[in-house]
Amino acid sequence: MLNIVLFGPPGAGKGTQSAKLIEKYSLTHISTGDLFRKHLSEGTELGQLAKKYMDEGNLVPDQVVIDMVDDKIKDSGDIKGIIFDGFPRTVAQAEALDMLLNGKGTPVTGMIALEVNEEELKNRILERGKTSGRADDQDINKVENRIKVYKNETLPVAEYYKGQDKFASINGVGTIDSIFDSICSEINQLNN
Ligand code: ADP
Repeated sequence: MLNIVLFGPPGAGKGTQSAKLIEKYSLTHISTGDLFRKHLSEGTELGQLAKKYMDEGNLVPDQVVIDMVDDKIKDSGDIKGIIFDGFPRTVAQAEALDMLLNGKGTPVTGMIALEVNEEELKNRILERGKTSGRADDQDINKVENRIKVYKNETLPVAEYYKGQDKFASINGVGTIDSIFDSICSEINQLNN
């Protein structure tokens, strides 16, 4: 199995690149942000719970996220691998993911981080906010809080995978296709 953690700050392009990767490698996409938004639109209890965190740009509590991912992996059946997008976002989530996947004998293959400077991130998110309908994309204070949360709580996850020798980073500024090519060449190296 090819299990890739696609990593990067909000607005780095994880969703865009995930869509291309799942097609090329026939992978399953697990985006925790998308899953929460689906729960929200379906009005589930989990969606209600997540909403108050998402609206402010804060993280949903680890155990809630971990249980949701666990369910999703259990439901996924016979697959070629998974792209994790927006997860793990804390070291506790990364440890839980290792437990889940190692238990199945299909560990994380590697993390690929998309590097994008802060000005570009803010511009991209506010631009997306004009059409995404996402409240957290439309308010600069919320966007700045998400970037702050990323630096404080999520960046240590990169160190976690560096410690396992499973980390690669690429420049996330450029055309969608050129970034995609860089990701694919990293995947080819991780897979060898
Ligand atoms: P972005 O990467 O653009 O910030 P996402 O769609 O990945 O957006 O996530 C939107 C929101 O969903 C986050 O700000 C957070 O509140 C919640 N969320 C998504 N994934 C996680 C996670 N792994 N842990 C905690 N909260 C999460």
